Amino acid sequence: MNGDFMTELSLWKLDQQPQEDSLKQNIKTDVLIVGGGLTGINTAFQLRNSPYKITVVDQGQCGHGVTMRSTAKLTYLQQDQYSKIQKCYGTKVAGAYIASQKEAIRLAKEIIETHHIDCDFTKVDSYLFVTQKENLSKLKQEQKGLAQWQKLEDASILPINFDIISAFKVKDTYVFHPLKYLVALKELCKKKNIQFYEHTMVQNIKRQTSKNYIVKTSGGTITAKHVVICCHYPFFLIPFFIPFKTYLEKSYIGAFPVEQVQNFSAINLDSDTYSFRYHQDQEKAYFIYLSESHRLSDEVNGVQKMKNLDQKIQHDFRQKAEYRWSNYDLMTNDSLPFIGRINQKHPQLYLATGYNTWGMTNSILAGKIIADLIMGIDNPYVSLFQPDRKWTTSKIVNDLIDNFLMAKIFIQTKIKKNYSFYPKNVKVEVRNGKSCGIYIDDKGVEHVVSNLCPHMFCSLVFNPTTMTWDCPCHGSRFDIDGNVLKGPSHKDIKL
Ligand SMILES: Cc1cc2nc3c(=O)[nH]c(=O)nc-3n(C[C@H](O)[C@H](O)[C@H](O)COP(=O)(O)OP(=O)(O)OC[C@H]3O[C@@H](n4cnc5c(N)ncnc54)[C@H](O)[C@@H]3O)c2cc1C
Repeated sequence: MNGDFMTELSLWKLDQQPQEDSLKQNIKTDVLIVGGGLTGINTAFQLRNSPYKITVVDQGQCGHGVTMRSTAKLTYLQQDQYSKIQKCYGTKVAGAYIASQKEAIRLAKEIIETHHIDCDFTKVDSYLFVTQKENLSKLKQEQKGLAQWQKLEDASILPINFDIISAFKVKDTYVFHPLKYLVALKELCKKKNIQFYEHTMVQNIKRQTSKNYIVKTSGGTITAKHVVICCHYPFFLIPFFIPFKTYLEKSYIGAFPVEQVQNFSAINLDSDTYSFRYHQDQEKAYFIYLSESHRLSDEVNGVQKMKNLDQKIQHDFRQKAEYRWSNYDLMTNDSLPFIGRINQKHPQLYLATGYNTWGMTNSILAGKIIADLIMGIDNPYVSLFQPDRKWTTSKIVNDLIDNFLMAKIFIQTKIKKNYSFYPKNVKVEVRNGKSCGIYIDDKGVEHVVSNLCPHMFCSLVFNPTTMTWDCPCHGSRFDIDGNVLKGPSHKDIKL
């Protein structure tokens, strides 16, 4: 195996990021925010001047989840989001979604300018393009829909040398550094006495009385009046049926140094996704290249996907990536995020997730919507994103397709256990009647774990780029000793 493919490193990882203690006692708070990604931090920030005691807990380090692996464009030109929402809910709702995304961009600009946040916030033109003739009608449909709400400009080429068939663009969109923004907001929250605990995993949420929730964590119990679930893929919402309403989409990203940046970002509408942007920090300029997207459950060979990405970067730009990473986001079957009160039975339990790979805008919006709900302030977008919204026919059809595809991978991984891309020191075999994942280290020591994900019992697949056991159905991740690194599972796979 080529050593180059053994590691993932995001361009956004900061050399020094303030760390927080883990929780080591039982505490009480007014508002508990579960998850310190952009959603959790934006929510805390919007609540910083409220009279409430606010606590944020993260199972790892704040920002090191999906947020750190984003491409971080702030745009409302979001592939065919408009057409998909229009198909499910009609023109008015699709128009309201576009208005919400513009509002999120306005809010981001206001926050960054008011608080002088240094996060490489740069105005760019956003392009939507196609590379194949058969997708031209999809592009035209999105263009026609969006044109009712926004001035668009035709474009026949991109500002870089990349073959396309057609494109259009919008102005006044932005790119930024998601971790610099998140860390700056977190420091502003700390000045307002918001309490942060890192390396503290929430394991269970139960209603104690009509006014309180009891939240069990790896470090102690938290009693809270309001609980905001911002942990990307929540496992504790069994009645909410997240796995049946969503799926995960994975992409591979590379960044290579360039002489100069150009102020544009672009994404396409073909089956093979390409997404581009530049990034300039104090020392260097980079071109960020995303491709090889797939449903998480469609492909287990991440090593090959990473190789494909490298080959594409070499072929299209004669360059070699200095940073490479992969990421997956939660996609909802009706293309609208879930933001707000879980349902009427739980008026103090809130959820924000399912951003369909557009979480920079939607997490900023989520922070504002949830803070307004907690503080009793009217917000025009509450009904648009309501998590317990009614199911439409096209959503039910999408749910059925999704569940069929998920069942397919569930069965496939049960039948096939060892893959050709596994290093020689990795295997899956039955021991004492249990399916085990085995990693043999340099000293010949076997690290034996259960091969079943505790979340919904999918068989785990070894990922050589991260040296982890990954769930191909819902994205949980475990280290070679069986410690859970990423949910939805909150349980280890130690034997
Ligand atoms: C490839 C890719 C590219 C993208 N590019 C863009 C883009 O250009 N523009 C855009 O708008 N969006 C983009 N997105 C989407 C965006 O990055 C995400 O939607 C967004 O970052 C999600 O933020 P979050 O805070 O909800 O989740 P996260 O950042 O994952 O934060 C959740 C946090 O919760 C913590 N957590 C999880 N479980 C627990 C638990 N049990 N207890 C305590 N803590 C827990 C995690 O440690 C994590 O820090 C992209 C997504 C992908 C996959």
